[in-house]
Amino acid sequence: MWGAIEHLGRDDRTRGYLRDAWSPADLELRQWFRQEAAGRGLDLREDRNGNLWAWWGDPSERPGVVTGSHLDSVRQGGAFDGPLGVVSAFAALDVLRARGFEPGRPLGIACFTDEEGARFGVPCMGSRLLTGVLDPDRARGLTDDEGDSLAEVLRGAGRDPGELGRDPETLGHVGVFLELHVEQGQDLVHRDAPVGVASAIWPHGRWRFDFRGQANHAGTTRLEDRDDPMLPFARTVLRAREAAERGGVVATFGKFRVSPNNANAVPGLVSAWLDARGGEEAAVRALVAELVEFSGAEVSAESWTPVVDFDVVLRERIAAAVGGAPILATGAGHDAGILASAGVPSAMVFVRNPTGISHSPDEYAETADCHAGVTALATALEDLCGS
Ligand SMILES: [Zn+2]
Repeated sequence: MWGAIEHLGRDDRTRGYLRDAWSPADLELRQWFRQEAAGRGLDLREDRNGNLWAWWGDPSERPGVVTGSHLDSVRQGGAFDGPLGVVSAFAALDVLRARGFEPGRPLGIACFTDEEGARFGVPCMGSRLLTGVLDPDRARGLTDDEGDSLAEVLRGAGRDPGELGRDPETLGHVGVFLELHVEQGQDLVHRDAPVGVASAIWPHGRWRFDFRGQANHAGTTRLEDRDDPMLPFARTVLRAREAAERGGVVATFGKFRVSPNNANAVPGLVSAWLDARGGEEAAVRALVAELVEFSGAEVSAESWTPVVDFDVVLRERIAAAVGGAPILATGAGHDAGILASAGVPSAMVFVRNPTGISHSPDEYAETADCHAGVTALATALEDLCGS
């Protein structure tokens, strides 16, 4: 399975992945998912928000145990974030069938749409729409770098954007959700363990800062006559780092756009995106409030996810089932967090990442650790589906 998808959306110059939601690469990956489901005789359903579900058994009779992840990537991302969870889900199902296991309740494999938010700015778009925490009107109006709205992009992909929104019927099929994911950190390296189980996801959010000035000629405009928004932006980047260190949180300006974006022009507008996360919501909120005040920019909140504590009974059960795996918190958001917040008992299994690097072509997991992840997932599914 890995060999069938590893070239899709890969930039051969950097080895990084470009798998924006609804891009040609994403559509090919979705097609691959459909083929894998069909090859196993699973019942494939696409919900109103573009999420894919492959079912072994009928979840309308009884809510099922679902596992899966996403196939889109951040821009220039790695191969494992997302696809490892989907490939491992199919592989775990194969392991269970090879053992002759017959599930006592339906078993589903999910592929969530646009988890990374690389194209439209809102992460976990598919699960946020499904659970109703993202307003469908707002989603339809989000635009990508080309200025195309999600509504237009969906129509181009043959979907009806009018369908977007909370989908209690689909959500009702998910009795338990379990997401396997490459670790985005080095906890498991330090603990010398190939797999771990998540305890919580830190509260996190994204904010857009628009710094406005006056575009002008870089040669003829005297310094004292300039209104250059790059300067307050640069000060704000440095302030974010200081405030994060002071507050014991993390803050990142990882994306910005300059207008007009000419080497010989003073910019007229700098739009920048702040990502802030931490163990304590109050500390994250305090950092953002400080930067709003300091920057003088127009600031809009694009997304916010409160702390997610995964189901304690479920996570202990899974940790025990896979031989006493360590339990760790993460600063990364996931669809499992969105489902947990919507009341679906959810858990995550992490697979060791030797360098901890993620959202980069250097993201990696050893094959033996990936196999340990599949075994852990199969064991957990066997435990959860048997009851
Ligand atoms: Zn991911």
